[in-house]
Amino acid sequence: MSVLVYIDQADGHIKKSSFEAASYAAKVAGQTGTTAEAIVLGKVSDDLTSLGRYGISKVHHVADDQLNTMDSKLYTNAIVQAVESTGAEIVVLSHNVNGKAIAPRLSARLKAGMVPGAVSLPDTSAGFVVKKGVFSGKAFANISLQTSKKIISLTPNAFTPVQQEGTAEVVPFNATIVAPAVKVTATNKVKGEVPLSEAELVISGGRGLKGPENWGMIEELAHLLGAATACSRAVADAHWRPHHEHVGQTGGSIAPNLYFAVGISGAIQHLAGVNRSKVIVVINKDPEAPFFKAADYGIVGDAFEVMPKIIDAVKKLKG
Ligand code: FAD
Repeated sequence: MSVLVYIDQADGHIKKSSFEAASYAAKVAGQTGTTAEAIVLGKVSDDLTSLGRYGISKVHHVADDQLNTMDSKLYTNAIVQAVESTGAEIVVLSHNVNGKAIAPRLSARLKAGMVPGAVSLPDTSAGFVVKKGVFSGKAFANISLQTSKKIISLTPNAFTPVQQEGTAEVVPFNATIVAPAVKVTATNKVKGEVPLSEAELVISGGRGLKGPENWGMIEELAHLLGAATACSRAVADAHWRPHHEHVGQTGGSIAPNLYFAVGISGAIQHLAGVNRSKVIVVINKDPEAPFFKAADYGIVGDAFEVMPKIIDAVKKLKG
């Protein structure tokens, strides 16, 4: 028996959320008196032995070119084979876009109970109970997993990875990869200057910016700070910005160090995707805007007057 963590990668690089999942898996292994191993799919340029620093003893690497692009069916097949080969009882993934697509498939294939979006380590004092956020993060539920196999997808940024001394052993894993009859093909990759899900700083705009022609100031500040850009759903629905930038209950869920919201009202559905940000700065001309209640710093003012001043100040600071 062991804990198996799926390590997600993008363009050959391990995602930050996967280091969190690896470290979480190692802690769960410690709790259950076993070891944590990892499965990596597709071509990777990062050094996989470094996963040892997060408590992973062995990395199973399927270096099949068919897996270079994420395909939830192919990925699920490969992970199921790794679970069978390692005898893993617990599978950990990040609750990111890919994890959300893979985890339910794994759960069905392995007849495993699943907790999507775990926020802390399981309580193993009486059974196996995992805490997760519900109602857009407004409450928590403790889910008791009673199946022999268990799947946990970990909310990004909910668990701080612990680093230690160690090197993981990397072994090739020969999974049988059979392309399904109906295949999903990625035709285009969309991402901004800085990928939103991994960004430490995010500058986000709402309907208060009046139209797509006014996004220059959002992009300029983001560029100056090395931040990603985001938006409210109202903005994406109006086609002012692409949908992959929309954050909230029905969009991306992010937890950067800084979330800078400009002309966004702060509806509960928007907050659901950003309320785990460390620092929230809000610019809104309406002092009654609900976002101010969630903000660490609030500026009551017209974005078209405030933003150019902030951009100038940042430019001066940067020399
Ligand atoms: P508005 O509500 O129109 O707010 C614009 C704000 O800009 C106002 O507060 C206004 O005071 C301010 N403003 C106006 N002019 C200026 C100016 N010149 N300077 C500064 N401030 C100014 N929304 C999401 O964002 N993400 C989601 O995932 C999401 N999911 C949803 C799911 C469901 C089931 C439902 C029902 C709704 C969902 N919504 C979601 C929509 C959400 O309820 C809000 O309608 C949406 O977030 C509003 O976007 P907004 O704040 O940009 O626009």
